Amino acid sequence: MRTVCVHASVTYHILIEKGSLSQSGPYAAQVFRPGSKAAIVTDDTVASLYLETVKRSFEAAGFTVPVFIFPHGEDSKSREVLFQLYDFLIEQEVTRSDFLVALGGGVVGDLAGFAAATYLRGIPFMQIPTTFLAAVDSSVGGKTAINIPAGKNLIGAFHQPSLVVCDTETFRTLPPETFADGVAETIKYGLIASKSLFEEMEQGHIEEKIDDIVTQCVSIKRDIVEQDEQDKGLRMILNYGHTLGHAIEKVTNHSVTHGHGVAMGMLLIARLGEKMGFHSPELTQRMERCIASYGLPTHYDGSVAELGESVLHDKKRSGSIIRLIVVKNIGEAEICPLDVDKFIEQLSEVQ
Ligand code: NAD
Ligand code: MG
Repeated sequence: MRTVCVHASVTYHILIEKGSLSQSGPYAAQVFRPGSKAAIVTDDTVASLYLETVKRSFEAAGFTVPVFIFPHGEDSKSREVLFQLYDFLIEQEVTRSDFLVALGGGVVGDLAGFAAATYLRGIPFMQIPTTFLAAVDSSVGGKTAINIPAGKNLIGAFHQPSLVVCDTETFRTLPPETFADGVAETIKYGLIASKSLFEEMEQGHIEEKIDDIVTQCVSIKRDIVEQDEQDKGLRMILNYGHTLGHAIEKVTNHSVTHGHGVAMGMLLIARLGEKMGFHSPELTQRMERCIASYGLPTHYDGSVAELGESVLHDKKRSGSIIRLIVVKNIGEAEICPLDVDKFIEQLSEVQ
């Protein structure tokens, strides 16, 4: 087993191990109150694959296990499902001595995490990520949120999990394009913080070393989150490629998934960075080759001008300045403030 310890407002461990789903109950028993309720929150797809194993493991470890299952998909990260979950927790008499278990991808983690942050003014929770993206990104760092019609993740809270158990065997059942979403975030970690990780991603065959790759990613995220838990500065570099990635997700009505949007977003920023003289064309080419080798998109087919419009409304923009994350050398990210108008103008010239 690999263990990464996070010292944020809560100190917690991330356990990465093949087959750990069946051990999730005993691992939880080392952290949570014995005999308490472990309310599992999951979606229908994950439930059909992994719920029984996890439920059995928690019951054998002495927990009472109410289960809340909702339909899979981003649409469920909503006010409606959130309030159904609150009602369920009340009905099941879940108290502050109990905890939630988010079993699934980022949608489950964000929804269950936000419910845990707000129900009874906050109860503990645990993450069991089952997508590559959730394992390397959303299950760690304490950002939780739901979507509202005005936009994604607009209602949220910082609430750290008390434990993360990652069973990388679960990635085997992921549709290839969902696995690729996690690949995009992993390439991002390499680009912003680790040349050797990027090189490993270039070499391919990552399934064989997936535990090590997840460990590297969460260690990078841990190092950043420990310095800037509340996203006031440095943590922004984790958003490399995300401003445009989010814009692509938004204008395509989320038919483009997060990782695919991030892949295109990173390449658009690299082309823009190249044009502005921040780095050599070789860097862009290397990124393009690596991203393409995993079947991820390298070009955005729609209107880049429309993306610019969307960025204007981005919640992360402060005044007339956009803080662009730029990679000048592989493994090193910088925050470059840029006038929004200049950004839009430069962007319209890249594709
Ligand atoms: P997801 O949770 O919707 O999972 C994708 C699909 O895969 C779903 O249909 C799900 O049912 C299915 N699935 C999950 N595990 C499976 C498995 N092992 N085998 C087969 N199918 C499986 O999406 P995601 O890509 O995991 O996460 C995206 C969400 O995460 C977005 O809402 C995004 O905003 C959020 N996110 C949050 C953070 C954060 O820091 N909180 C970071 C990144 C992304
Ligand atoms: Mg992301």
